[in-house]
Amino acid sequence: MVGTQPQTPKHLEDWLRDAHAMEKQAEKMLEAQASRLEHYPQLKTRIEQHLEETRGQTEKIEECISLLGADTSAVKDLGGKMAAFGQAMGGMMAGDEVVKGGMASYAFEHFEIASYKALIQAAEKASKPDIARICEGILKEEEAMAQWLAEHLDDTTRMFLERSEDGDLRAKT
Ligand code: MG
Ligand code: FE
Repeated sequence: MVGTQPQTPKHLEDWLRDAHAMEKQAEKMLEAQASRLEHYPQLKTRIEQHLEETRGQTEKIEECISLLGADTSAVKDLGGKMAAFGQAMGGMMAGDEVVKGGMASYAFEHFEIASYKALIQAAEKASKPDIARICEGILKEEEAMAQWLAEHLDDTTRMFLERSEDGDLRAKT
């Protein structure tokens, strides 16, 4: 049986816990953004939609951890792993400028995409197709958000620049 034994899903479990921390961080960042942006209603609406998706993703990750037979109570007190990245991104978002927030969101969505791609491979390797399918579903939501941002960042930036030229002091949000 040498070589045929399934790989212990150690990485899968670790990476699911990382993903859980990542989604918690995403939730904080999206909440902060959605609470502003009164001059960018289209962007605000899309962010609110993704905030709802993100809350669902957190639950799906908890489901994946359960499917693995791991203890989900431990995920509650996580958070350290995403701290450095999250603080850098969150710092940009905490600023009140819509363009910086858009840049941070764009970067964060791509980090999420890469994370779910890795998770799908880890789940397949560990013979956990149910987990792989859930992660594929989440991946589609992240890709759709990244795509939307890619298509709207130029307009958002131009709108911001025009408002700034007009001396609108509230242009930033
Ligand atoms: Mg997400
Ligand atoms: Fe996302």
